[in-house]
Amino acid sequence: MKKSILQNRQAYVNLLSHWGLKYKCPFCGFHSKDLFPIGLDNPTIKRYQIIGAGQRNAGCPKCASTDRERLVYTYLKQELNIFSKPKTKVLHIAPEMIIANQFIAHDFKNYICGDFYAEGQHADYSRDFVEHMDVQNLPFADNSFDLIICNHVLEHVFDEKKAICELYRVLAKDGIAILQVPISPVLETTISDPSITDKDILEKKFGQKDHVRLFGMDYKSRLESCGFNVQEIKLQCQYPKYGLNPKEILFVGRK
Ligand SMILES: [Zn+2]
Repeated sequence: MKKSILQNRQAYVNLLSHWGLKYKCPFCGFHSKDLFPIGLDNPTIKRYQIIGAGQRNAGCPKCASTDRERLVYTYLKQELNIFSKPKTKVLHIAPEMIIANQFIAHDFKNYICGDFYAEGQHADYSRDFVEHMDVQNLPFADNSFDLIICNHVLEHVFDEKKAICELYRVLAKDGIAILQVPISPVLETTISDPSITDKDILEKKFGQKDHVRLFGMDYKSRLESCGFNVQEIKLQCQYPKYGLNPKEILFVGRK
């Protein structure tokens, strides 16, 4: 008991050392002078200047939210005002719990989460809450969801075209899909090689041991080829205190 009080006090002191006015976390509201480093660099990430990957100062000192999570959350909350619309039918693939908890807290009745639970991947949620499903073959009727969140998933999927077309199929007319992936700004065309299974080679080619492709500047047209009307949105200027990645563009697909 005594130890836990001491630990809490130490955590509080550590947190105060980050206090400042530069950032304000949209999740927990903490004001900080800095963000802590997250992610790992490797030569491939550096060579391809992959946006949304690699080591960067992007973690909230209080709630540990990342820049990627804050970008999606900012769009959902500030731009879509989604949390005041609890009747929205939502599909969240491989959910970030910090975002999922917001849907739960706002009592969304039609909020479905899914994950493929691929071997070797870390998924720390219960299978009751997050259903097993394959994004290449979704178990839903056409036009089922008003909102789909698929944040950094398509780089893991074997048949990306099938997955994108499935997401388009289950999205309702006038629905919105958030479709983030790591992207290389120096790669004109997406590279992938389905024959590679060796994790070290995958990392060397695509930047991470469980990525089966690296998206390039043709990502938007890949989404469009399945029918999406794609909007590229930058929110950094509107929300300079949220610690968003200035290079990360939000890809929003509409039907
Ligand atoms: Zn926070």
